[in-house]
Amino acid sequence: MKEIILKYKIIIIITVLISSIFIYSNKTYSLYEISRNTTIDNAKIYKSKTYYLNTIKKNTKVNEDVKIKTFYVKKNENISLLLKRINLTTPLPILKKNKNNCFYNIKINDEIIIKYSNQIVKTITKKIKDGECTYNSSSNLIDINKIKLSENHEQLIFFNKIESSFYASAVKSGLNPNEIMSLADIFGWDLDFTQDIRVGDSFGVVLDRKYLNNKLNGSLIKYAVFKNRKKTFEAYFFKGKYYTKEGNALRKQFLKAPIDFYRISSHFNRKRLHPIFKTVRPHLGTDYAAPTGTPIYSTGDGKIIYKGTKGGYGKTIIIKHGNIYSTLYAHMSKYKKGIRVGKKVKQKEVIGYVGSTGYSTGPHVHYEFRVRGKHKNSRKIKFKKGKKLNNKNLVSMKAVHSKNESIYSWVKEAYK
Ligand SMILES: [Zn+2]
Repeated sequence: MKEIILKYKIIIIITVLISSIFIYSNKTYSLYEISRNTTIDNAKIYKSKTYYLNTIKKNTKVNEDVKIKTFYVKKNENISLLLKRINLTTPLPILKKNKNNCFYNIKINDEIIIKYSNQIVKTITKKIKDGECTYNSSSNLIDINKIKLSENHEQLIFFNKIESSFYASAVKSGLNPNEIMSLADIFGWDLDFTQDIRVGDSFGVVLDRKYLNNKLNGSLIKYAVFKNRKKTFEAYFFKGKYYTKEGNALRKQFLKAPIDFYRISSHFNRKRLHPIFKTVRPHLGTDYAAPTGTPIYSTGDGKIIYKGTKGGYGKTIIIKHGNIYSTLYAHMSKYKKGIRVGKKVKQKEVIGYVGSTGYSTGPHVHYEFRVRGKHKNSRKIKFKKGKKLNNKNLVSMKAVHSKNESIYSWVKEAYK
């Protein structure tokens, strides 16, 4: 019974989390944020759907008596049905099957825009991958118009101080969810975003957003800074990787956490009250609570040496990394397909999925880090510095970033 209540609680928490992320990510930019961004360039934010409709409106002279109706195709709908709904008859070319007739097979979620006046169809337009397909009543033909791709770039600055959670503060700064994940990945070698982040920490990001036809197509973080308590971490992008100012790769032998940052339930503690046994038992690992099915990564390159059910650990995988280190991942719901003893895995390769098998009160991954067989707190181990760039590359990295250095130092000093 308790388990059921707990499950419901978790479901409710997850639903609230997901919906708040959704609401936040659709939030329009406040003037304050735009003015902060304009320090470098004008922030132009488009919403693809409205943009599309606006271009349609702009490109055609709309008479007073022309009506426009937009449909998003639902299950079992066809073009005749949509037209019938607004009392229009279907033009013949649209009923004939041929390769130009994009209306013959319409799919769920297709966007169909119908223009008509005096109950007669003028045009029917369907948005296709890189343009649009239009039936025009004046020619009685269907034409496919590919839109020329226009590419725009914007360099933007985002920064904020952490007030409640890293994610919420990052959203508030104007970063989108993908950019937030990238930021966490960049510093994921030095910081465990589920545990190390504190109220009062701050971050700054200089990034390049690429737009295709004014629609956001991707972003690239060029520089990032993270102030975690007294420590400052910086990242410079160079040839597909991130480096410190001195040219040391941020990538390290081990990731700080085996899952993307989610809520954390229990810290490494040698004297913890076990939630099931209610006795003091050492907890020789770190628990990362996450929804069942969340992918679990190998934190380093290595070889699987154990896969199976291991008492209270439930479904468990142990990976050996060279001669000194090994890592253990427990309570999995299932293993990743193809994972078997003896298989070599890469860092951040998915090995299984979060579950609650074995002695466990809720879905989480129990992660252990061992050095020469002895349990260690993975969060406190200092790993070797990342590979250093050679002099020639370090010079070119500095050259690439030199014109932005003043912006970087400004972002870095935004919060003292
Ligand atoms: Zn545990």
